[in-house]
Amino acid sequence: MASDIGALSAAAAAAAIADGGLARDELFEHYRARAAADQLNAFTWVAEAEPGAVDGPLGGVPLAVKDLFCTEGIPSQAGSKILAGYCPPYTATAVANLEAAGAPLLGKTNQDEFAMGSSNENSAYGPVLNPWDHGRVPGGSSGGSAAAVAGGLAPWALGTDTGGSIRQPAALCGIVGLKPTYGAVSRYGMIAFASSLDSAGPLTRDVTDAALCYRHLVGRDSADATSVAFPEPIEIPSSERLDGVKLAVPTALVEGEGIEPGVRASFEAALETARGLGATIISCEIPSAPYALSAYYVIAPAEASSNLSRFDGVRYGLRVEQAHLDEMYTETRHDGFGAEVKRRILIGTYALSSGYYDAYYGRAQRVRTVVAQDLASIFEQADMIVTPTSPTVAFGLGERTADPLSMYLSDLFTIPMSLAGTPAISIPSGLSEGLPVGLQICGPAFSENRILSAAHALEQAIGFDGSVTWGSD
Ligand code: GLN
Repeated sequence: MASDIGALSAAAAAAAIADGGLARDELFEHYRARAAADQLNAFTWVAEAEPGAVDGPLGGVPLAVKDLFCTEGIPSQAGSKILAGYCPPYTATAVANLEAAGAPLLGKTNQDEFAMGSSNENSAYGPVLNPWDHGRVPGGSSGGSAAAVAGGLAPWALGTDTGGSIRQPAALCGIVGLKPTYGAVSRYGMIAFASSLDSAGPLTRDVTDAALCYRHLVGRDSADATSVAFPEPIEIPSSERLDGVKLAVPTALVEGEGIEPGVRASFEAALETARGLGATIISCEIPSAPYALSAYYVIAPAEASSNLSRFDGVRYGLRVEQAHLDEMYTETRHDGFGAEVKRRILIGTYALSSGYYDAYYGRAQRVRTVVAQDLASIFEQADMIVTPTSPTVAFGLGERTADPLSMYLSDLFTIPMSLAGTPAISIPSGLSEGLPVGLQICGPAFSENRILSAAHALEQAIGFDGSVTWGSD
């Protein structure tokens, strides 16, 4: 069995443990050894031994967790120097729920600082490499989680998505990533970026693993007032057909500039596959889409500028000692935050300042409402919206760091769903020039079961083989 362990999906590993064919500690040690020998810089902390075993439906399958989830007594640095060495006194609900269901913590994964980025190059702990090509980025901001799963260093991982940070790295690394309905998963213990957008979800090898993980993530948590009970149990999908399913394609958006021909070709092929499975494809428009990106890049920094004010050298992590308190705050924040985080704090503070508040923040909030209305009116005519996840495949390390606007364009297709709070999944649709392309499937709030079911049917028909990277690092 030992040599085949890495070939098992999380669900298959859990089943092998349940029927006695695989020992729990053998599975943990397989991944612990691989994570400890990490060549991708995907991990910022790796467990030294298996934590106390908990029996549960997740069967002892080890879990990698993005570093912005608080884990009791374990470094939780959110990719930032300002949190260097910070060990929280409690564990995030999302992590605690999965641990209680039987998934032991394998390690913490690298990420863009405070989840701001699309390439993982904004980490104070160095960039992460894409397992498909070490010269390219894994996407971001959950780049460490995506690379760890795609590189076979973890069977599955937890990430967060504020504007695309689960879906885009999943797409660029050839795996599955699910961004939940806003509020379906507790945010308690997640180091906050933009509280009205932040969502925690799984990054996995396949759709079945995503459903298995997600079913234990959801739930109302009294520690997060924005969390809600999921209205139905999350099912493990088995569908192989899309008969009667109506999929809407936002034509103007997906035919716009900046989309690589290989991405478009893979998307067109996925639509053909969907038709073959019985789906009807209709064309739709999201008239507010051209404004969604701009609105996001006002709202998210505005919330970040407020959330990040707590990092002042007094309570957490780094402190740059100075004679006067004001100077200590200033020097700590000067040294502790990276360039992109400073840029967002400046933009957000400006957008919220008196005299500009309505022109920027107020207007962006109105755009957000219109985006949600646009999506809702599409869902009156179609079951789901499909787009490519990212306009491009994984780009080269350093290729976009000098131009923040080109980096922000990575989020073109993912941001409307973030603003609307609706769920969306990215699954691999194929390869373009040897690199993975992602397909995004989005539905109305709390339609995760339908999305997972459609994703499963498409996954079976597409037959993408991600195993080429699982055995290599
Ligand atoms: N890339 C987007 C940003 O930089 C989204 C990040 C995220 O979803 N956390 O804000």
